[in-house]
Amino acid sequence: MITETDILQTPIEYLKGVGPKRAEVLRKEFGICTYRDLLTYYPYRHIDKTHVYKVRDIVENGGYIQLRGTISNVQVIGQQRAKRLTAVFRDDTGTLELVWFNSLKWVEEMLQKRQDYIIFGKPTLFNGRWNMTHPEMIDPTVQSTSAVPMNFMPLYNTSDMAKKKTLDSKAISKLVTNLLPVVKDVIPETLSDRMVQELKLMPLKEAYCNIHYPASSQHLARAALRLKFDELFFTQMKLLSLKLINIQTIKGHLFSKVGDYFNNFYKHYVPFELTNAQKRVIKEIRADVGSGRQMNRLLQGDVGSGKTIIALFIMLLAKDNHYQSCLMAPTEILATQHFEKISKQVAPLGLRVEFLSGTTKTAKRRQILEGLQNGDVDILIGTHALIEDNVIFNNLGLVVIDEQHRFGVEQRAKLWRKNTTPPHILVMTATPIPRTLAMTLYGDLDISVIDELPQGRKPIITKHLYDKDRLALYGFLKKQIAAGRQVFIVYPLIKESEKLDLLDLQAGYEAIQRDFPEPEFGIGMVHGRMSAEDKDFEMQRFAKNQSQILLSTTVIEVGIDVPNATVMVIENAERFGLSQLHQLRGRVGRGGNQSYCILMSKYELSSEGKQRLNAMVSTTDGFEIANFDLKLRGPGDIQGTQQSGMLDFKIADLSKDEQLVAYTRKLAMQILDNDPALSQPEHQRIAVTLREIMKREKNWTRIS
Ligand code: ADP
Ligand code: MG
Repeated sequence: MITETDILQTPIEYLKGVGPKRAEVLRKEFGICTYRDLLTYYPYRHIDKTHVYKVRDIVENGGYIQLRGTISNVQVIGQQRAKRLTAVFRDDTGTLELVWFNSLKWVEEMLQKRQDYIIFGKPTLFNGRWNMTHPEMIDPTVQSTSAVPMNFMPLYNTSDMAKKKTLDSKAISKLVTNLLPVVKDVIPETLSDRMVQELKLMPLKEAYCNIHYPASSQHLARAALRLKFDELFFTQMKLLSLKLINIQTIKGHLFSKVGDYFNNFYKHYVPFELTNAQKRVIKEIRADVGSGRQMNRLLQGDVGSGKTIIALFIMLLAKDNHYQSCLMAPTEILATQHFEKISKQVAPLGLRVEFLSGTTKTAKRRQILEGLQNGDVDILIGTHALIEDNVIFNNLGLVVIDEQHRFGVEQRAKLWRKNTTPPHILVMTATPIPRTLAMTLYGDLDISVIDELPQGRKPIITKHLYDKDRLALYGFLKKQIAAGRQVFIVYPLIKESEKLDLLDLQAGYEAIQRDFPEPEFGIGMVHGRMSAEDKDFEMQRFAKNQSQILLSTTVIEVGIDVPNATVMVIENAERFGLSQLHQLRGRVGRGGNQSYCILMSKYELSSEGKQRLNAMVSTTDGFEIANFDLKLRGPGDIQGTQQSGMLDFKIADLSKDEQLVAYTRKLAMQILDNDPALSQPEHQRIAVTLREIMKREKNWTRIS
């Protein structure tokens, strides 16, 4: 039996007008392999053909328009390769020149047959005259015989390669007109009729037709809404039902006891009062790990909000319940810093904390691995090295991943497998992810937010300066250093090709050495090409205030904590993305002293560059910055989301469809709450659709 979906799965080469050669191009260039793929290859824009313009009304950059009038003065001019055909188009308000560079003969014959035309194209101004090249010429007496409405012409993204093989936008739209009549009646509805009605959605069938060839602009809008709805709704259904499956099938390690380690530390060794937000988050996590379910939680908190101490508390809770924990950080510098701080903090409690990275010496490594296996090591801190297969725990109960966006899906999955029952997972990120993005990217995780900074932090003052201000800047730095403070100076990453136009780190180092002579000033430098030991040495020197100025590339971006540093100077700031700038700025303002972020840039900035720097100057709120970034660049560029494949929406746009994301998530929750197995007749179609989606996306792992 041929089912409805089988038809949508038909290989594209069977479509009228395709064949094996074009099928190959479609597959290679656009990933279109089946009827469904073409059906969901949506146009990026439509041209309104319902409106006939007058020459008088043409404006510059007005895009494609349609005009009606007569043709005269047809002539071929120029020689050889410069040969072209021109004609004058006239309506009752003015004239326009038409130009053709190829198919001259064919066009000439066509123009001889009749004078009266509807023309369609994009007017441009050339030598003070309106001009249109290669207009589409429509005979106004011929009625459209097409099976689909042609009022709005769809425009499809194409590629040079595809165009060479005659697959331009027009050809693709032709293929779609061949496809629609074939599939129209078999497109399955994904929601019950009642839901479609109650939610006032366009039926899916109509939506697919109208997204390509809308009957009106209202139809187009409703079609887009319906298709966005489906994309977002089923993404949420997928995420939430996976979460449900986890809850039902995975028994979590039970941290039932709050014991001496946790309590002692809390009462005697925390050097400050926890913020209310920190207390709340610890409670949320305790409820999770004490529930008998496996925790999968994302902890979001702006830079400096104090996430590390929370991780430590939960690690102590693990110890109280006879479990081991590990903390993984994305860079050696950051992992080292965590190790040093945490070992010091828990020293009075008598825990064994170890550090493991790629540079750990063999003998030491053997010792650590042994300690892990026999359960002597309580807390393991390190880099990617923790993931390796030979790192075997005795009883791992908790995994903390810091600065989560640096890790890929695979790596996280490996950590799950480090105990027969997967450990609790706490993922910490300082990249403020806008809500909609978080709901999607981490839709199967629970989210905790620290929305409060520790007391007494003064907002960082941010200034945008140019080269001419450099002397004044240096004067300011000297004053800060004289007051006992320290300074970061960060340069963009050095790429060979960009070496020439970049104020590179080395040159910067020499310049700083001239203006800040030793021994009065200590200057350090770190960059990615240094060995881990050298980097660590320089970091330590800075942390101990033996150097006052630290020049670096972005290796210091994540997590570094030197509370005495109060100035962050970012050179060529226009070359950094917003979230990166925000991360860098977060390296200062961590102590009680007023801190500053100085953005140095060249004079000519792109408008986007200018907007980014302005945003930095105008707010220190990470979430505001993240939202701004999302609007400026779109979700695909947000750090760490590229490889996830979670954001490959065909029509929904997380930066614009915020409300729809929230709405569909709520709806999906309601449905799963009262019918977790989707067994009610009302949810039949949803269940079927969900199964199909899961089948199509086999490689979708259970941790997003
Ligand atoms: P992040 O959330 O960026 O990882 P950290 O955990 O590194 O932040 O904390 C930043 C700094 O603030 C650290 O020096 C830490 O000791 C300190 N800190 C954390 N919580 C508090 C608090 N409640 N009061 C004062 N200082 C705190
Ligand atoms: Mg941190």
